[in-house]
Amino acid sequence: MYYQHSYEQALEYSRTSLDEMKRLNVPATPSNFSIFYEYASGRSPDLNKAIDILISNRQEFTPETLLSLYERFFGFDEESRQVRESTQRLQNQLGSLLTLVDGAGQDTREYGHSLQNFSDRVSANRSKEELTVLIADMLAETRMMEDKARKLEDQLSQATQEISNLRKNLSESEREALTDVLTGLANRKHFDRFISNAAKEAMEGGTPLSILMLDIDHFKKFNDTWGHQLGDQVLKIVGSVIRKSVAETDLAARYGGEEFSVILPDRDLDSAIGIAETIRHKLADRKLVKKSTGENIGAITISIGASRYRLGEAIPAFIQRADQALYLAKQSGRNCTKSERDLESDLLVRE
Ligand code: GH3
Ligand code: MG
Ligand code: MG
Repeated sequence: MYYQHSYEQALEYSRTSLDEMKRLNVPATPSNFSIFYEYASGRSPDLNKAIDILISNRQEFTPETLLSLYERFFGFDEESRQVRESTQRLQNQLGSLLTLVDGAGQDTREYGHSLQNFSDRVSANRSKEELTVLIADMLAETRMMEDKARKLEDQLSQATQEISNLRKNLSESEREALTDVLTGLANRKHFDRFISNAAKEAMEGGTPLSILMLDIDHFKKFNDTWGHQLGDQVLKIVGSVIRKSVAETDLAARYGGEEFSVILPDRDLDSAIGIAETIRHKLADRKLVKKSTGENIGAITISIGASRYRLGEAIPAFIQRADQALYLAKQSGRNCTKSERDLESDLLVRE
């Protein structure tokens, strides 16, 4: 949540929210403060309504109430909710595993004591009969121990299985939260994470980093002519061509509607332009046919902008240069690749 309040405004809201929390006996933790700051600013009518109802009904602001308000209005998103749930289950599993192992330790210690006891008693002069009884006792104890060990083994392997399932679920839900459903490429969230990491690595290693912004040409017209459904098929095809043209270490993403992006770590501008041209040609050379009617659709063309990261610059500036180059590609007639270098020369021409 981002607030654009002035210094005085923010101070006033902070004071009001602290007063209100004091009056309602609500601890001024950061999450509670967020709730009451939002309340004081009146920015979320629903939140104000919820709090006003609680106050007018003289309801206590219990930790549970406050947590549910926080979750509802400052929301953990779906991904973090799933991760929190899985983590909780993982913790529970680990807890019961520890209890199991602890119990096993206790049993083993007791068994050790019995063995010790047995050996003490054997060492004294015993008659054959006494020995026979002792051995029978010990055998029974050993069988019991074996039994417990077997059960423990079963429980342990069950718990291991459960934990490995949980781990799979966790990485699965993380993967889903970062994937664009239609194309299977990375989504915008993944793109944002990846690019800031890549920029960090480029700065640390002094290595190049480039980016491509790709946009389908006249896609609105395509949808108008052939329908949205076929448009979606085209998005899938474009996505798949892009994915197949880049390395595992690059990131191909659906940036927005019919716009794609590729982040290319360790690539300088020329190399990035090379990849852009490969993608562009692969698409332009592919003649599409509508299966159901046999109609010739022709080729899909895209325009591409490329830029290279300038170490230390803000990420939006880096993306914006690729965007400007893409815009230039559109202006230059589409179905072509332009880079930030062309922007510079473009500026030179105008001077
Ligand atoms: P330009 O060559 O300048 O990029 O022209 P354009 O028509 O491609 O660009 P414009 O931004 O005018 O239109 C983008 C179109 O992309 C409009 C919208 O219907 C379509 N689009 C965006 N997302 C989707 C989608 O998920 N599925 C389909 N089928 N079409 C989409
Ligand atoms: Mg377009
Ligand atoms: Mg567009």
